[in-house]
Amino acid sequence: MNSKVSKDHPMSQLFTEPLMSWYKKNARDLPWRKTSDPYKIWISEIMLQQTTVNAVIPYYEQWMKIFPNIHSVAKAPLQKILRVWQGLGYYQRAKNIHKSSQIICKRYQGKIPQNAEALKQLPGFGPYTIGAVLSIAFDQPYPIVDANVRRVIMRQLALEGFADIAQDPEILNFLDHVMPLKNNRIFNQALMEMGALICRNKEPLCLICPIKGSCRAYEKGKQEIIPTPKKRIIQDIEAVIAIIEKDRKYFIQKRPSNGLLADLWEFPGGKVKKGETNEQALARELKEELGIELRSTQPMMDVQHFYTQFRVHLNVWHCQPKSYPQEDKIHKWVSLNDLIKYPMPSGSAKIVDRLRT
Ligand code: SF4
Repeated sequence: MNSKVSKDHPMSQLFTEPLMSWYKKNARDLPWRKTSDPYKIWISEIMLQQTTVNAVIPYYEQWMKIFPNIHSVAKAPLQKILRVWQGLGYYQRAKNIHKSSQIICKRYQGKIPQNAEALKQLPGFGPYTIGAVLSIAFDQPYPIVDANVRRVIMRQLALEGFADIAQDPEILNFLDHVMPLKNNRIFNQALMEMGALICRNKEPLCLICPIKGSCRAYEKGKQEIIPTPKKRIIQDIEAVIAIIEKDRKYFIQKRPSNGLLADLWEFPGGKVKKGETNEQALARELKEELGIELRSTQPMMDVQHFYTQFRVHLNVWHCQPKSYPQEDKIHKWVSLNDLIKYPMPSGSAKIVDRLRT
């Protein structure tokens, strides 16, 4: 069924047209909006799933300098991909970009397929990414439901409850009725921009909102409580990190290929258990991880890093072991200058920055 709106439909006049004309005047000038290259749109959309627009811009620009096209991604070693992605988090997404680029180059001569069935077969292409690529790059009538869109539509419909995928059937039904017959590329971006700039999570700017005429939450005065605000539970983690140095090189190790922060490199160490001192935790971790014993330890620095669900306090110690660990595929001795070539979790990357200053 295609129930998308024509210009004289009431929903077009109340919602679709004001939204799109607001966007044409107010859209932010963002690097990925200057292109219709499907590869660039795909990468920007994956990056935008992780963090804010302002945080994405430098990553996007650096990525495009290093990997200007899909062939350059497909040919690059995974370690280089992860290093350029470092700091964005959700490293599985970078791995999926790598795998999908290789498949697209092999199967489709480097051209991103223009249909949902083919895209579904590629790693990392879920409904959001498929909708984003097909609508923004190819102007096809596919909806995009991200956190911004979900919030705007929940408020338009006064849908109560938490903002999560349970709301999506009603949201998609609404979108099916308000999507324009053409210019989907503009419509979807306008809706996301509306959520980012006007229909914000906190303190939405209803007075200047171009679509307040169709907004039921505004009508009922419920815009601040729709969606239901989430209470974030932040866990505090105390960890010790061992800096082991020999001949002006530092010892690092690779994390396993699955689980949290998979395939990234880090200094040895781990969580401090309840009742343990930092020194006891260091001795235990180094014995468990590397089978070595400590001769002496000295505190070096403290580093804090915030992840979505937890806050890590890294107690960094200079460690002198009784015997030095050996190098192999997943353990390396690396000079200070070369440490930046290894993809690392943000907390470890901060330690490298501090070692270099
Ligand atoms: S009127 Fe307010 S709550 Fe409704 S869409 Fe506009 S900004 Fe959001």
